[in-house]
Amino acid sequence: MTSGKDILNDSARNKSTAFSRKEREQYGLRGLLPFAVADLETQKQRALENMRRKPYDIERYIFLNALLERNQVLFYRTLIDHIEELMPLIYTPTVGQACKEFAQIFRRAQGFYITPDDRGDIYRILGNWPELDIRMIVVTDGERILGLGDLGASGMGIPIGKLSLYVAGAGIDPKHCLPVMLDVGTNNEEIREDPLYLGYPKPRITGEAYDSLVAEFVDAVQSRYPRALIQFEDFLTPNAYKLLNRYRDKVLCFNDDIQGTAAVALSGIYASTRISGYDFKDLRIMFLGAGSAATGIADLLTSAFEAEGLSNKEARERLWFVDINGLVVKSRSDLMPHNLPYAHEETQLDFLAAIDRIKPHILIGATGAPGTFTTQSVERMARHHDRPAIFALSNPTSRAECTAEQAYNWSGGKAIFVSGSPFAPVTYQSQTYHPGQGNNAYIFPGIGLGALACGATRITDGMFLAAARSLASQVAQNQIDNGTLYPPLPALRDVSRGIARAVAKAAMDDGVATAPSLQEVDAYLSDNWYDATYTSAP
Ligand code: NAD
Repeated sequence: MTSGKDILNDSARNKSTAFSRKEREQYGLRGLLPFAVADLETQKQRALENMRRKPYDIERYIFLNALLERNQVLFYRTLIDHIEELMPLIYTPTVGQACKEFAQIFRRAQGFYITPDDRGDIYRILGNWPELDIRMIVVTDGERILGLGDLGASGMGIPIGKLSLYVAGAGIDPKHCLPVMLDVGTNNEEIREDPLYLGYPKPRITGEAYDSLVAEFVDAVQSRYPRALIQFEDFLTPNAYKLLNRYRDKVLCFNDDIQGTAAVALSGIYASTRISGYDFKDLRIMFLGAGSAATGIADLLTSAFEAEGLSNKEARERLWFVDINGLVVKSRSDLMPHNLPYAHEETQLDFLAAIDRIKPHILIGATGAPGTFTTQSVERMARHHDRPAIFALSNPTSRAECTAEQAYNWSGGKAIFVSGSPFAPVTYQSQTYHPGQGNNAYIFPGIGLGALACGATRITDGMFLAAARSLASQVAQNQIDNGTLYPPLPALRDVSRGIARAVAKAAMDDGVATAPSLQEVDAYLSDNWYDATYTSAP
């Protein structure tokens, strides 16, 4: 029989001081709690005050994580009601520090770990996870954690943080969520040799050994949780592409670094045309950086241009890349496979010469290299166009290609600025601009929710296009007037629900939905919506 203490120790059931007198009697809790019966709102205020007293963000992260382990409803209620304040703590940027210090701040295991020693047993050991109805899985192998590189098993904070955002941002019940660390070793000798390191303390397995372990994991998920969507997260670029290309037409999956980033950027591009007045299909777009983020954006843009009636060739002609060695052109011999579709017949030019030659309307930075949008590059963008858009997507804020202030100053107030990490509003010549933050959190919760709501069997490009369009259409005109290209974060749950409907509709159009109608989708959204309130029985 479950004791009162068991209930208090079960985060999914614990209401702590909110247990009523009747419940305290009924569940053997009398004497185990102080006298006062608090409501959820009072508990939330207490938690917030406790959290705010902590001197460092990492301490706040630890506090919030401990709250999640103690009282799930209270954690999610607090996160939902204060998403703007808490998201940077439970996700970027603080989660980056939490991952780096994972071995030092570890208190209690969360999520599911798979190592090469589990080969042949993955299906069986997944049965150790207490929940049976898993619908959302976020999995990483820890090799490219944010901009921090290979952190091995210490990257577990990423799947945990992302799934918290699925719950808070898209009303997905935590019992359906499973964070997974594919701990295949680490090539980061410093952490591997740290006596406190908690992961598999060997160099990474690669090649066939790696591929077959991932395949066993994907198969095991299909058998154990046939409804589950797998989100690949923070894999090194070549593996990210390899896994996405291998599985996207076979199982329900996507890669957020590639496709989620693409959709959030595309949405910003759509919204920017509401300011600039340019016709979307006439845009020329240049990327600085030709890695997974930039290429993912270009791939989705290709589909978006095609949806406007352009041929594949015409679409690609609008997309240009500059990487660390200059303009990506056919004559270069150092290009990666994912660069080839965007290598044009053109002379090799440096970044500034390329801006003058191509005259892009939109410049997108995804380099991880701060300061790479120089005064001259922004000035030239403003020389060629009245309202150029400057997307400085590299995270965290300190790595942005330029700051919001620089973009507005150097362009004489003409730039439409978007960043990957937040920037404070900037006043330039007595006008205040509110830079938009192209945060993936605007897209992936709605994609996941939409896929679940329509019982999707695959995630198509059409679903990401629909998500981007829906997001751009949900930015209010007064925000557009302030130069903001994304809705306010507190609206995230409503935004995600809108995106989910659009995604479900696109899945139906693409023939990958199993729900027969939008009414069924709406019914799913209402019946499964997690609201972080206490139920009567714990
Ligand atoms: P990646 O390592 O795959 O690619 C980086 C690319 O930048 C490479 O092509 C490299 O040649 C190029 N590069 C590096 N330094 C350069 C320089 N000085 N000049 C020109 N090119 C340079 O990395 P990625 O996964 O594509 O991520 C890149 C950045 O995008 C990261 O900083 C990440 O924070 C950011 N990102 C942002 C979002 C978002 O805002 N929503 C999402 C994902 C990634």
